[in-house]
Amino acid sequence: VENARKVYRQRGGRKVAAVDGVSFTVEPGAAVGLVGASGSGKSTLAGMVTGSERPTEGSVRFGDLEVGRLGRRELRSYHSRVQMIFQDPYGALNPLHTVGYTVVRPVTNFLHLDGRGAHERVVELLETVGLTPPEQYLGKLPHQLSGGQRQRVLIARALACEPELLVADEPVSMLDVSLRADILRLLAQLRQDRGLSLLYITHDLLSARVVTDQLLVLNKGRVVERGETKQILQHPQDEYTVTLLDAIP
Ligand code: ATP
Ligand code: MG
Repeated sequence: VENARKVYRQRGGRKVAAVDGVSFTVEPGAAVGLVGASGSGKSTLAGMVTGSERPTEGSVRFGDLEVGRLGRRELRSYHSRVQMIFQDPYGALNPLHTVGYTVVRPVTNFLHLDGRGAHERVVELLETVGLTPPEQYLGKLPHQLSGGQRQRVLIARALACEPELLVADEPVSMLDVSLRADILRLLAQLRQDRGLSLLYITHDLLSARVVTDQLLVLNKGRVVERGETKQILQHPQDEYTVTLLDAIP
């Protein structure tokens, strides 16, 4: 992400820069956290990385691809390389689709497996995300699952197309504390086992400690501090980071 800016026109014509000149790199296999208060521009940045938002200025590149310039069809194939999980695992799932159907779709669409091969892949994915035994989950609908289980289904769906980068926008903030730890451990594990790169977005600095090794602190669309996660948590340099840390009970 190079010098990215995103300007939104508010009601009444006033323009607001949600992201105001942000640059950073996620190296292959790295886990980078974006932290900041509500409205600091985190989701807007995530959207630019996944291609759902075009930067007003600056650029987002993934390897040789200029993400902001991809057409619809190119975006589709980009999404086999970059996947996203969201805050609300319920809203992101189709209430009428079973777990099996939800996960098998990207397996058929992106990996072009079908029949037995596809089924075996789905079973493996459910095992990977800790939905075991998988047979017990295949036929379930979202409303028959807990919040943590739904988030696992979303992670399985995201992994189904074997992405290189996972963008996780507040993936645990709607889960209770014990489930949070489980999901965070799962993300850390996936990174270790699969070499998955991670862009982890949160307003919670402590959860960033579990999954990231580099951090960018955003305030009003700008980066106010960046560096190693451990270093920032121990010795925050920016006043705003100190405020964020002080807010942790
Ligand atoms: P949160 O922690 O609450 O999710 P965030 O850091 O993800 O916040 P963004 O969603 O990126 O923040 O929003 C940044 C700013 O841009 C906010 O002031 C928001 O109102 C504004 N904004 C975001 N999307 C739009 C849009 N589609 N149209 C107009 N303004 C927008
Ligand atoms: Mg957000």
